[in-house]
Amino acid sequence: RAKEDGGRGFLLFTEEMGTRAAKLMTMQHKLRRALDRQEFVAFFQAQVDVASGEIIGCEALARWNSPDDGMVSPGVFIPVAEECGLIDAICLHILTDSCRWLAEWSKRGLPEIPVAVNISGRQFHNSRQLLTIVDQTLAETSVRPSLLELELTESSAMNDPENAINVVRMFRDRGVSCSIDDFGTGYSSLSVLKRFPIRKLKIDRSFIMDVTKDPNDAAIVQAIVALAHALKLKVVAEGVETLEQLAFLRSIKCDAIQGYLFSRPLPGEAMADLLARGKPHPQPVVS
Ligand code: C2E
Ligand code: MG
Ligand code: MG
Ligand code: MG
Repeated sequence: RAKEDGGRGFLLFTEEMGTRAAKLMTMQHKLRRALDRQEFVAFFQAQVDVASGEIIGCEALARWNSPDDGMVSPGVFIPVAEECGLIDAICLHILTDSCRWLAEWSKRGLPEIPVAVNISGRQFHNSRQLLTIVDQTLAETSVRPSLLELELTESSAMNDPENAINVVRMFRDRGVSCSIDDFGTGYSSLSVLKRFPIRKLKIDRSFIMDVTKDPNDAAIVQAIVALAHALKLKVVAEGVETLEQLAFLRSIKCDAIQGYLFSRPLPGEAMADLLARGKPHPQPVVS
């Protein structure tokens, strides 16, 4: 109930705000408990070289293995975690999990591939904390920095480009490379893009979905690949599900693909099996 002291500067505490705040508190409480109980895990999705068919890397994707709700997708908990300041703790967990699996795959003599970890815009903004977390994790797990990649979305890269360029540079100086994720969905300034010391652009899944049916999507994807190559960057297409999409991407010289066609995101143990089997076989998604 809003205080009725006639004073100014009081927020009207409406019922709606109360419900929202209560929901956030419940979720925050659940996330904190989930962190304590180590319910967050990294799943890994392969990136496949279009020319050779070999696995050339993978992306770590956060999952919440909740005893109440089952596997919860990051779309649900990442925004809440950002809002209530738990994103760093979750990211640290995903980073550690990723580096532990890197060390484990290497111990088993499996091919060494880099793991790409997603970093939120807020964390890039809080760069000192992020650098500390990454340095600590690499030191504790003895993983080579060149096996770690960081993904920054196009929108967070362009939100505060000067800061983002600086942070990417600091990581590059440590041997950790960065890529721009969800490319095509934000607003890129090309004069800013060319100053980013990144290695890869990842084309957002929304352009790939209809790339074989919609000539506009095909034209956009082809233009992004040409732009990336002109800037000496590698290009990865996200969300590839069919052989037709793969054939198109091969014809325009896209470097690598990530999608259900070759593999869904897998637990570390299943990723080890995939690495042990060699080249993955395409399994088109039937809709
Ligand atoms: P993203 O980084 O763009 O990751 C790609 C998303 O596309 C993943 O969804 C992946 O499962 C999905 N995907 C890949 N291939 C296909 C396909 O062929 N078909 C379809 N339909 N989907 C495909 P996911 O795992 O639900 O992650 C969603 C987003 O959550 C990620 O988008 C990323 O932005 C964010 N995220 C995930 N893990 C983390 C994390 O550890 N930290 C942060 N900050 N964000 C994360
Ligand atoms: Mg990503
Ligand atoms: Mg993406
Ligand atoms: Mg995406």
